[in-house]
Amino acid sequence: MCACCPPSLVAASCRPRLDLSPTSPPANPPPSRARPSPLRCTLKMATVVKSDEEWRAQLTPATFKVLRKKATEPRGVTLAKGGFDDMFDEGTWVCAGCGAALYTHEMKFDCGCGWPGFKANIAGAVREETDADGSRCEVLCKACDGHLGHVFRGERMTPENERHCVNSCSLAFIPEGKTAEDAIRCTYSGSVYGGD
Ligand SMILES: [Zn+2]
Repeated sequence: MCACCPPSLVAASCRPRLDLSPTSPPANPPPSRARPSPLRCTLKMATVVKSDEEWRAQLTPATFKVLRKKATEPRGVTLAKGGFDDMFDEGTWVCAGCGAALYTHEMKFDCGCGWPGFKANIAGAVREETDADGSRCEVLCKACDGHLGHVFRGERMTPENERHCVNSCSLAFIPEGKTAEDAIRCTYSGSVYGGD
């Protein structure tokens, strides 16, 4: 602890400087959960393919409509409503349909739009597609083609200048140190827009 700051400020303002002396061992890079894809194209390459009946049996009605029929949940599906808009715990965000890892907690930020916002995605985990009317860019789980939401660029909300606006219904959350079996699923059961 340095002597210049009260204890409450130490964590924020007095982090020890990196020791860059030649004798110090190299700092270990943070573990990466990224799954780099050997392919960079955005062609449809879903590897998890199920019928509507199979998805319907697996998912809640709201999640089925959002993930498989491109519906949109209302804004403000918070923890109190079974969603994730205001959840910032440490862990991994996975696809509610196929379980593919999509985002890490470091990528989630409080964008204030009413839906979970991410400033980046795990490499190769999602693909993009222009909406039918050409106005927005849809973002989908690359593994199962599940609808996640939309991606917006140029808003200058983050250094990445990118915001993935994702439905809580499309996500499940694996807390840090837990496994897929411990995943917290979205339990929102209210109405959604579209998907009929
Ligand atoms: Zn998926």
